[in-house]
Amino acid sequence: MFATLSDRLADTFKNLRGKGRLSEADIDATAREIRIALLEADVALPVVKEFVGAVKDRARGEEVSGALNPAQQIIKIVNEELVTILGGETRRLRYAKTGPTVIMLAGLQGAGKTTLAAKLALWLKEQGKAPMLVAADLQRPNAVKQLQVNGERVGVTVFAPEPGNGVGDPVSVARASIEQAKRTLHDVVIVDTAGRLGIDAELMKQASDIRDAVDPDEVLFVVDAMIGQDAVTTAQSFLEGVGYDGVVLTKLDGDARGGAALSIASITGKPVMFASNGEKMTDFDLFHPDRMASRILDMGDVMTLIEQAEKSFDSEQAMKAAQKLSGQGGEFTLDDFLEQMQQVRKLGSMSKIMGMLPGMGQFREQLENFDEREIDRIQAIIQSMTPAERANPKMIDGSRRARIAKGSGRQVSDVNHLVDRFFEARKMMMQMARGGGIPGMPGMPG
Ligand code: GDP
Repeated sequence: MFATLSDRLADTFKNLRGKGRLSEADIDATAREIRIALLEADVALPVVKEFVGAVKDRARGEEVSGALNPAQQIIKIVNEELVTILGGETRRLRYAKTGPTVIMLAGLQGAGKTTLAAKLALWLKEQGKAPMLVAADLQRPNAVKQLQVNGERVGVTVFAPEPGNGVGDPVSVARASIEQAKRTLHDVVIVDTAGRLGIDAELMKQASDIRDAVDPDEVLFVVDAMIGQDAVTTAQSFLEGVGYDGVVLTKLDGDARGGAALSIASITGKPVMFASNGEKMTDFDLFHPDRMASRILDMGDVMTLIEQAEKSFDSEQAMKAAQKLSGQGGEFTLDDFLEQMQQVRKLGSMSKIMGMLPGMGQFREQLENFDEREIDRIQAIIQSMTPAERANPKMIDGSRRARIAKGSGRQVSDVNHLVDRFFEARKMMMQMARGGGIPGMPGMPG
């Protein structure tokens, strides 16, 4: 995501390094480069103009802070302006004060609505809500079935027209679902509506009719970020035709340029509320403009990483490991190492996790090429060791290494490499646990 833009901006900032003061020419050159970077990222032209204008004005004027050098000043300004175009503050869902909260989804066919409906339901469940999914997409032959399958995957009830009773009309299905939710004490109702391949009057009318029937607390427009500028155009048409409160971007994982994400809030005036970034049901979260800006500027998204870690980590286990690393509660062993690795893996792919750390932009290629099976290989090696060896890796001598290699189907050099890396990692983690910070972590340029 945003790879080209990140790289471009990083180059731009690099050119400012070591400069004592920014001349008018420096500011112009920087503005020009930022403009090109945004255009290459497929950001809508009006947004580009406004953005560059704001950066230029601010760089020239007011903000000459003694604490920051010129490169840092520009990064600060660009960061703040990115947050602004991405929509400013994080916009959270509004829940109904009484009765079930009704969320209606609208968008084109293939936007990822049905998938999104289930992801949102799962997310709500994790927030302690009792959601219900409603299949009001009766246009696409398979849509009801697909929602039922997805609902089952996330363990959420799906309200759908009875098969065999004819298709029924989506408006009455949607209306009936609200009554049903009240009876069954579901507190959030997610209504999935029909999409079409393109915008047409009938689609708009149907969505408007459903909206009038269920009086939603939130209408969310779901759009595929991969279609770039078309996403922005579609968003505008839907805004005029149906209206909505917020945008959900799907397939952000496939959107290398980020044009839709960067333009849609400014152009429509509606916030991006959620982002969907993968095929897994958990590849979904609130959209935080500030965190997204940090990611673009390779300042990392440590907040999201921490939240995900909190969700999936076994805190007792993590506490034990932390104690061991800080020199209490026995030595950190290969078993602990393996367990930590398995915990980290629950967070997602290595490239996704590492990508959220600051300063990782320079390793993007390596991260993208990281072979996730590497972790399986490490696991196989550790599991071929005896409990005594895992507890005390220092005892793993030459003949033991040969045996372990054979047992795990790897080479002796792989075992050597792993043992070496374990000792290195243990040393580094112990330094960190004792408050030494992360060694060698790059800071801001300047
Ligand atoms: P609908 O027609 O709007 O209901 O769209 P679907 O939910 O059927 O999704 C269309 C296709 O996009 C399916 O193949 C999904 O698996 C895929 N898809 C949905 N969301 C995402 C996402 O965030 N990332 C990726 N890579 N694929 C997605």
